[in-house]
Amino acid sequence: MRTEPVLVSGLIEVCRATIAANTDSLCALDRAIGDGDHGTNMRRGCEAVSADGAKLSTLPFPDAVEEIGLTLVMNIGGAAGPLYGTLLMEMGRELRRRDETSEFSMVLKQAIDAVARRGRAQEGDKTLLDVLYPIQAALAERSPLGEIAIRAQRSASQTAPMKAMRGRASYLGDRSIGHVDPGASSCALLTTAICHYLEEHYPQ
Ligand SMILES: [Mg+2]
Repeated sequence: MRTEPVLVSGLIEVCRATIAANTDSLCALDRAIGDGDHGTNMRRGCEAVSADGAKLSTLPFPDAVEEIGLTLVMNIGGAAGPLYGTLLMEMGRELRRRDETSEFSMVLKQAIDAVARRGRAQEGDKTLLDVLYPIQAALAERSPLGEIAIRAQRSASQTAPMKAMRGRASYLGDRSIGHVDPGASSCALLTTAICHYLEEHYPQ
């Protein structure tokens, strides 16, 4: 995969802008089954990464990804901080361990498994894993970026009928049913933004 500095700064900006535009809707989702701060937490994390954007874009790609993960852990807070942080930190470490020819879907698989261990969660528990695993599967099948984005959004919607098994929402038991998981939603929004950015700037 190509890893020039403009890719890093472009992705940081597109993620920041997406979360800024959806802060209120993510908070509304979190108010339904949590404490209502997922949008503002994510916005704080993205703004912290964006503030470091100039420095991050000078680093080798794996180091930049790991550093972004660290910044997310320190700034997002809540349950999402350690989960998104683990995802990016593991992705960075895995990218460093592999050479440039290895499949990104395999890198992502390692990183998602680390998130699952960190959150002691699995697919079907109504978390961001319910978006991450389908994205990984789509990547492994070499689906086009537009299709990966659609799969991410559909996967987030499919968390609505699930009963939350992990995190604050799990205290609600059956009352968590009928609401989209906020973490799954932010994950789908970010994935969609990243796919559209790559489609536009790095056509396959
Ligand atoms: Mg919350």
